[in-house]
Amino acid sequence: KPIVLSGCQPSGGLTIGNYFGAIRNWTKLQQENECLFMLVDLHAITVRQEPELLRERIYDGLALYLACGLDPEKSAVFVQSHVPEHAQLAWALNCYTQMGELSRMTQYKDKSAKNVNNINVGLFDYPVLMAADVLLYQANKVPVGNDQKQHLELTRDIADRFNNLYGDTFVVPDPFIPEVGARIMSLQEPTKKMSKSDDNPNNYVLMLEEPKKIEKKIKRAMTDSDEQARIYFDPEEKAGVSNLLTLLSCATGESVESLVPQYEDKMYGHLKKDVAEAVVNLLEPIQTRYHELRKDEAALRQIMAIGAEKASVRAAETLKTVYDRIGLIAKP
Ligand code: ATP
Ligand code: MG
Repeated sequence: KPIVLSGCQPSGGLTIGNYFGAIRNWTKLQQENECLFMLVDLHAITVRQEPELLRERIYDGLALYLACGLDPEKSAVFVQSHVPEHAQLAWALNCYTQMGELSRMTQYKDKSAKNVNNINVGLFDYPVLMAADVLLYQANKVPVGNDQKQHLELTRDIADRFNNLYGDTFVVPDPFIPEVGARIMSLQEPTKKMSKSDDNPNNYVLMLEEPKKIEKKIKRAMTDSDEQARIYFDPEEKAGVSNLLTLLSCATGESVESLVPQYEDKMYGHLKKDVAEAVVNLLEPIQTRYHELRKDEAALRQIMAIGAEKASVRAAETLKTVYDRIGLIAKP
């Protein structure tokens, strides 16, 4: 069975961008692949986090994963820091990654521009930890949103480099990026992607947000002042409207092409109302399941323990091989 690995950072509440770009596809991949899904807490601390809040969000994230349909019987659902090999392999891979490669990463450029007071080494090194996450499990497929494509390219480069130096060690992974929903845009600034760590909460819709609030945010989404206010799909010229069409397509399963003609003589308000309704309908059952699951922290702890246990077996194996190839002595 092919191996699939992915994760989200508990750096905020998960958004519909995270859902459409990543999590939703995970649940589909579970059937025919051997899957590992993490909450990447070590990645989240590259930006300053409030300790108590971070801890809560890890539980929240796990309960939400399960509510979305991740099945801990089928997949390893776990917390990154519970498998220490992630950090260990990242260290080794650091020594096979060039400063120049990391300086070219657009996420680093964006995030360091935003967090000018905390441009820490971890933020710079983020892509190497991500490479370790993937390579540790010999993953074949990595389902991510469009924004992670560049990081995955780097992962492939690091794997190739290592394999060339030491012989086949790592599987070189392929990205798995959905055709629709790979880049959900910010509601108020539709030229940038929706991000859970955005300072302006009106830019995102959280999966756990109250329906009333979701409606309000979508109804206030930035469109444009095109005099004719026509509805058509053109992410460059009509970023806001196109994002709404994408959201509607994601939430209803109807293609954008078949949606556009339905809005030919309609106004932006109609579209927004329909998007809000579709998103709320989609999220409501997930929210209900989430609240049920979130109550039982002991059960969540048990699930994360089992997940980490499963993941550890494979992780230990890869790390051992890597250490051996490099010339380290396995602990006698
Ligand atoms: P942060 O702002 O803290 O970086 P984020 O919203 O970007 O948070 P991540 O945890 O970094 O979320 O990413 C988790 C997964 O969600 C990744 O696979 C990423 O590609 C995907 N993703 C993030 N934002 C979007 C988006 N706007 N559209 C589609 N997919 C997204
Ligand atoms: Mg991100």
